[in-house]
Amino acid sequence: MKIKFVGTSSGKASLNRFHSSLLLSFENYNLLVDAGDGISRALLVNEINFNLIDGIIFSHLHPDHFSGLPALIVQMKMMNRKEPLDIFTHQSLKDVCEDFLVRTYLIPEKMKFEIRYRTFEDDELVNISKDFSLIARQNSHLVELEKYKVNHPSISLYSASLFFETERKKIIYTSDISSVGDLFLFKEITSDVFISEATHLQSSILIEALGKIEAEKIYLTHYSDEDFQLINEILATLPSSLKNNIIIAADGLSLEIRL
Ligand SMILES: [Zn+2]
Repeated sequence: MKIKFVGTSSGKASLNRFHSSLLLSFENYNLLVDAGDGISRALLVNEINFNLIDGIIFSHLHPDHFSGLPALIVQMKMMNRKEPLDIFTHQSLKDVCEDFLVRTYLIPEKMKFEIRYRTFEDDELVNISKDFSLIARQNSHLVELEKYKVNHPSISLYSASLFFETERKKIIYTSDISSVGDLFLFKEITSDVFISEATHLQSSILIEALGKIEAEKIYLTHYSDEDFQLINEILATLPSSLKNNIIIAADGLSLEIRL
């Protein structure tokens, strides 16, 4: 299993880093996790061939996680893609995703490759490929928008934290969250790699809570340039056992998790 941090920035655009995105590679399958604004350029910079991506999953529809999708599919088209592309999506987001792509003129009858929507329910075990699966659990990231549903009943407030599993390895990605409780959505699982966003909780509260997470290594992503300094300062005050366990990921960081 390989994990590549394609981007590590928060929703705030950065001159130095791309919005948060991961590429998970297991055996012959490459899964892109989140495809926000600028994802095509982020992949180019990371020397990842667009057409080697077999599937894409987005955690929620905020633009830093989703809005790069049509542009990326256009790149795939221009590179003469023939192989189908899997899009993993919660069932409540499938129609809006499909409609968004069609309205950007990615019309299925016109395409030379198939987009296969693979929808899932909350907490359902989803097989990505042989011996590679995921479970999405709804977190509280979008709960504060509930009050707007009165005027906009069609919006889905589904935002997922994700658990990926291969035969031997377990990876948790919080994606964007809103509460300390969201860090523990998969609390029954001890992961090999725990990847947490670092924007929506106050840095000191986040680091303290991460001290209670059972994982071999913890990586932080989705942080602004301003937060980087502050997080570093907090990490410097920790006992070395904990400090050595929490790593601030950089764009392009690649981890090989050995079986
Ligand atoms: Zn975000």
